[in-house]
Amino acid sequence: MADTLKLVKKISRLSDGKPRLRFMEVCGTHTVAIFRSGIRQILPENVELVSGPGCPVCVTENDFVDKAIAYARKKNFIVATFGDMLKVPGTRSTLAREAANGARVEVVYSPLDCLEIAKKHPRKSVIFLAVGFETTAPTQAATVLAAQSQGVKNLFMLSAQKLVPPALRFLLDDAAVNVDGFLLPGHVAVVTGADEFNFLADEFKIPSAISGFEADEILTALVSLLEQVDTAQVRVANDYRKVVTAQGNVTAKKFLAQVYEVTDASWRGMGTIANSGLKLRDEFADFDIERVEPVEVERVEKKSACRCGEVLRGIVKPTDCPLFGKVCQPLHAIGACMVSVEGVCAAWFKYGGGKFNF
Ligand code: SF4
Repeated sequence: MADTLKLVKKISRLSDGKPRLRFMEVCGTHTVAIFRSGIRQILPENVELVSGPGCPVCVTENDFVDKAIAYARKKNFIVATFGDMLKVPGTRSTLAREAANGARVEVVYSPLDCLEIAKKHPRKSVIFLAVGFETTAPTQAATVLAAQSQGVKNLFMLSAQKLVPPALRFLLDDAAVNVDGFLLPGHVAVVTGADEFNFLADEFKIPSAISGFEADEILTALVSLLEQVDTAQVRVANDYRKVVTAQGNVTAKKFLAQVYEVTDASWRGMGTIANSGLKLRDEFADFDIERVEPVEVERVEKKSACRCGEVLRGIVKPTDCPLFGKVCQPLHAIGACMVSVEGVCAAWFKYGGGKFNF
């Protein structure tokens, strides 16, 4: 507690007399940790935290959900997914609704669970919804390698894996986005290494700090950001040294490079971002359901007041959305940001966004 108070006082001192500063916590796990620990509420008035595009479910496009639903409706297909994808709205339905109507949808805790499902149901095609960032992609790569070495031929990936650094570059190129620094996701940096984020300082001259997920770790990273603002010495501060190295997890990166290649990817609210996704290499095309058995989904432009796209870029707060807390709530989500526990709107709904007055 003594350390926490010292950090809070340091934040207060460093921000004193500064203009309004907006720091973006890039990842959904940070958003929830910040709310749970009450950090947002104790920050000085001129230090604002805005949430970014780091919740994998939130940035997954309708199109991907529609494809997953199209596969789930097919005879002899099983769609396996992490639980938080179940309620993500597609254009007209959700996987949860399809499951209630008889589609075969299985919730798994690891892509490796799908290997067992595939072995148990050799006559069915088992599709894993490979959604996530650098954190989960290595396990997905390991699953593909395990399926190959074990001769499992009925397990496939429907891929929407995304990479965080290109999304940050995209945000910094967007004139509507206004941030003074990034609180970088510690678990992504464990895999990529701190050096992967050097472009933030070298090219964009913007402060950043890699942070863990405990309250004191987040406060320490905020101190780093404010020190960079204060001294005008911009760098990528690695405030999660106990697990993040400069080069990252070399073994995980080797797995990734063996199985995947970098490709353009479509992000909800941000459109297509160059080199921001992963696709299976041609040697593993037999595990890519879109190449083995493509499905057509109708592209429908739905008019909606949902402001997920702006929320994910830190342009507006969830409470600026006219649907927030009214028709859009976790049990009846209109947009993807209200679905996952790490979704920005869901976190604001659950924990509230007010300030404490001392
Ligand atoms: S509150 Fe709901 S409708 Fe509004 S931006 Fe968030 S997810 Fe979309």
